[in-house]
Amino acid sequence: MENTCYTDLLLELECPICTNYMAPPISQCATGHSICEECRGKLSNCALCKGVFTESRNIALERLAVKVRYPCINKNSGCNLKLAYNERRLHESNCAFKGYRCAMENCFWIGRLEDIPLHWISKENITKPCGTNNFCRTKMISGSYYVNLVIAFDKLFWFKCKLSNKKVYWAVQYIGNSTEAENYYYELDIFKSNRTKNKILISNYCQPVDIEDSLIFSDACISLPLNMVTPFLCNDQTLEYHMRVNTVNKKSEQCKAISGTKKQEKSKKVVGPKEVGPNKK
Ligand SMILES: [Zn+2]
Ligand SMILES: [Zn+2]
Ligand SMILES: [Zn+2]
Ligand SMILES: [Zn+2]
Repeated sequence: MENTCYTDLLLELECPICTNYMAPPISQCATGHSICEECRGKLSNCALCKGVFTESRNIALERLAVKVRYPCINKNSGCNLKLAYNERRLHESNCAFKGYRCAMENCFWIGRLEDIPLHWISKENITKPCGTNNFCRTKMISGSYYVNLVIAFDKLFWFKCKLSNKKVYWAVQYIGNSTEAENYYYELDIFKSNRTKNKILISNYCQPVDIEDSLIFSDACISLPLNMVTPFLCNDQTLEYHMRVNTVNKKSEQCKAISGTKKQEKSKKVVGPKEVGPNKK
């Protein structure tokens, strides 16, 4: 009985637009419809009554939101935790029952971390998953988008390459606990066999898998103007390069932080976390 009451109470906290639970700040329209922060950011008018949003917040509902314990978003997959509103985001992004989306275009599969390789191999692809060190051949045709699964250091990553608006984007996303993503970096080594003295060597930290493609392909990943890459293209517009995934050497990072200037601009590190010496052949 008590439980049904509680479920009913939680129902009151569901956003009428996206049905996610609302948490402070809870905005409302002139009529009094409450709405979650995310939907508020996306909508210019109330979707229920078309009325304008006001600056006032639903204080009663916010007070309730602070008191209740919300079920984890992965409840149906087996997580039984109940969380305060301000604990939810952190827990849910690292929850062991979290479902991961398949990165292949037009695939709507969501599943457990450990089931990804099987799904990938059985369904999508003739391409074998990448390992730590890969020779890649990617055709540079306008609008192309390429994804592969990377299995390295017993961890899973998505490797994505996209060509859009005369720019080539590469991203490697760590699939798992988002705080661990920066323990890994990837390196692209672009070359052409008859241009032995010229190459592009570039690296960046791996990004968490929660980052949406629209964000990852803006500034979180490696991007190069197409004309920088053009001299390296083969006749059939294929770009050949090595892609390597590596672990960040924590010790040398710490030394750098102590001795060097404290430049902690993590997201836009283009030239690698590791000193990249002349390439070993
Ligand atoms: Zn909403
Ligand atoms: Zn309304
Ligand atoms: Zn959970
Ligand atoms: Zn899939």
